[in-house]
Amino acid sequence: MKSAGAGDEGLFTESYCNICNAQLISESQRVAHYEVSTHTQRERAVTHITLKAGLIN
Ligand SMILES: [Zn+2]
Repeated sequence: MKSAGAGDEGLFTESYCNICNAQLISESQRVAHYEVSTHTQRERAVTHITLKAGLIN
């Protein structure tokens, strides 16, 4: 699961994951973080909430 394209901006920045409130100092740390299940589960939940909110509005 590698995200190659742009368009994921907003939820996480270069050195910080806003979903998990985790500091990601190095690129290897960032790559590893985005593959851990806690992150992907939270990301899925956040995306789901965002989509629901979009439908209600
Ligand atoms: Zn994360």
